[in-house]
Amino acid sequence: DHNEDSVRRVLLKVSGEMFGGGAVGLDADVLTRIAGEISEAVADGVQVAIVVGGGNFFRGPELQQRGMDRARADYMGMLGTVMNAIALQDFIEKTGTPARVQTAIQMTQIAEPYVPLRAIRHLEKGRVVIFGAGAGMPYFSTDTVSAQRALELHCDEILVGKNGVDGIYSADPKLDPTAQKLECLTYGDALAQGLRVVDAAAFSLCRDNHLTMRVFGMGESTNVTRALRGEKIGTLVTE
Ligand code: UDP
Repeated sequence: DHNEDSVRRVLLKVSGEMFGGGAVGLDADVLTRIAGEISEAVADGVQVAIVVGGGNFFRGPELQQRGMDRARADYMGMLGTVMNAIALQDFIEKTGTPARVQTAIQMTQIAEPYVPLRAIRHLEKGRVVIFGAGAGMPYFSTDTVSAQRALELHCDEILVGKNGVDGIYSADPKLDPTAQKLECLTYGDALAQGLRVVDAAAFSLCRDNHLTMRVFGMGESTNVTRALRGEKIGTLVTE
């Protein structure tokens, strides 16, 4: 059920952590590099859709721990993802590649609403499409939305860019020195082992709908372009 033509179309998930370079707010150096790498892949003919996280601003569960109502906290989290989306759009456009933002919560002065067919049209015209505000629903994560958008837009693959780790390991490499990087694994194994690379809902959506996922390290330069082009870096997760 992928896109009909032979052109490669991918969904890239960029976590909020990447945008902040590990801190709150935006790191212009990181944004400049990532935007440049994305543009390179687009110039090669890859169709790139992006879901952005918001953890560099607010995460709903953390605000809930400070006493906020969970749904309201989640809406704040979603608004953070919109700021990241606009920032990424700006840095991508500075490289000369057109980019559009579509949000799951309408805010039509600053972004288009999420319209899947229009998103596909943008991709076909060589525009990057960036999705903000997650699913527009509390209790969801941007990981789950990445899987949903990848499926709805008939992407060939979902690419999950990680900060500080270059794939999925047999154990937490920060805690266990014998941990080995895995070339590939199945969604079933990832779920059974409780691997938290993406959330369980995202893993099971991909598994149930035959979508492959590649988890790779975004910190190293050229990796984003390589993953977008389809190079076999990181870890492949399949059915
Ligand atoms: N969020 C939400 N619904 C969504 C997507 C995101 O409620 O569909 C909220 C949630 O509070 C989450 C925050 O937005 O904690 C930021 O998203 P996420 O944690 O997925 O970002 P990341 O960890 O990738 O930076």
